[in-house]
Amino acid sequence: MRLSRYFLPVLKETPSEARIVSHRYMLRAGMIKQSSAGIYSWLPLGFKVLKKIEKIVHEEQEKAGHIPMLMPTIQSADLWRESGRYDDYGDEMLRIKDRSGRDMLYGPTNEELITDIFRSHVSSYKDLPLTLYHIQWKFRDEVRPRFGVMRGREFYMKDGYNFDIDHDSAIHAYNRHMVSYLRSYERMGLKAIPMRADSGPIGGEDTHEFLVLAETGESEVFYDDRILDLSLGAEAVDYDNWDECSEVVKKWTSPYARTNETHDNALFDQVPQEHRKSSRGIEVGQIFYFGTKYSDAMGASVQNSNGEKVSVHMGSHGIGVSRLVGAIIEANHDEKGIIWPEEVTPFHCGLINLRQGDEQADLACQTIYDSLSSFGLEVLYDDRDERAGGKFSTMDLLGLPWRIIVGPRGLKNGVVEVGSRRTGQTEEVSVEEAVKKIIQIYQSI
Ligand code: ATP
Ligand code: MG
Repeated sequence: MRLSRYFLPVLKETPSEARIVSHRYMLRAGMIKQSSAGIYSWLPLGFKVLKKIEKIVHEEQEKAGHIPMLMPTIQSADLWRESGRYDDYGDEMLRIKDRSGRDMLYGPTNEELITDIFRSHVSSYKDLPLTLYHIQWKFRDEVRPRFGVMRGREFYMKDGYNFDIDHDSAIHAYNRHMVSYLRSYERMGLKAIPMRADSGPIGGEDTHEFLVLAETGESEVFYDDRILDLSLGAEAVDYDNWDECSEVVKKWTSPYARTNETHDNALFDQVPQEHRKSSRGIEVGQIFYFGTKYSDAMGASVQNSNGEKVSVHMGSHGIGVSRLVGAIIEANHDEKGIIWPEEVTPFHCGLINLRQGDEQADLACQTIYDSLSSFGLEVLYDDRDERAGGKFSTMDLLGLPWRIIVGPRGLKNGVVEVGSRRTGQTEEVSVEEAVKKIIQIYQSI
């Protein structure tokens, strides 16, 4: 993409309403625009990141055997009356009347809708286990929408629902979700810690939240810092293997890690003092096992192998896709701007032409642009007729992990500069080597 033809409304001034760094940088980098409190338009650059995160979530869910679908944003109140949550949900629910006076609502979550789909179509244990999910906009009329996309009213969420014949099978679904979530966050370049949590209005027996440590996080967290050494790495997990999944879960849930809602001082004191840490965290996901709560209330049952009718065991599992955009910035930035992890960067490489209109420089840029593009890499080419300083600071703010700088002086010596946004390290290499280096970096991911 040539910057001169893109829509990237970068702001020079720091917007006064933005109190945390991710919100400031998202506004300044032209990623979002507020349309009303807690409701945002995703401008082209922000939209690209949102889609990259969504893609990782889809890929990891499908690897775990979970099936994608799409449910509507607007739901009928009747289903929520069946589960008893229409009144319980309170003012966070946006209630709407259609032209015939029917009560509708903008879905804050989808347990009722999915249970209705399930009971309409599934009646035998032979169709289980089943996990369906979608990635769809949600609306919660939060008391205090703030911090940009971190606490919006309209937000983008992956929510998945498992249906299992019994408790053990549902616990395997829970474990599968935990593993696939850990994998997703890791791929986004994030360290998200599973923490024992409180089940809140969804209700349930077992639940973990996933938290990214950040000073600006809304949750207070307490943890054994040895959990930060854990990583799934490239290790493959067989999602059909109950023991293997449960081993991973055991490993990740053994070190003490809790939010203030479930924090237990006596247990925490058993962690060696040098490992006892408390800080703040951003909730980027949560998984729940809630047994037969919704299936009992809404009559979602199947025949078991003895021909008896039994309520299915369910769980629900959410990832805050739009919140993750902010959370990734909170965890990856410096005083100059964002530093995108390679997996979610809006463009793979920035290209700066120091002397637009110089025949050699224009030609070298075009060669780099075409070569990288033909490998499927996305380049943001700053081809504007602007001062070099302005181009550098824009690139720093946008935070593309790699950049190539092309100028007439370097070209005289046959070189361009390749630099890493994260380390600030640069090297001078030929045009061909620069292209090769960027391709190699992305091939290794
Ligand atoms: P919170 O405690 O932050 O209000 P929650 O526990 O009510 O969130 P869940 O129902 O667990 O939220 O939703 C799943 C995920 O959706 C959360 O882990 C979070 O990442 C994201 N999410 C929830 N509410 C919002 C919001 N208002 N804005 C952006 N993302 C949100
Ligand atoms: Mg939650």
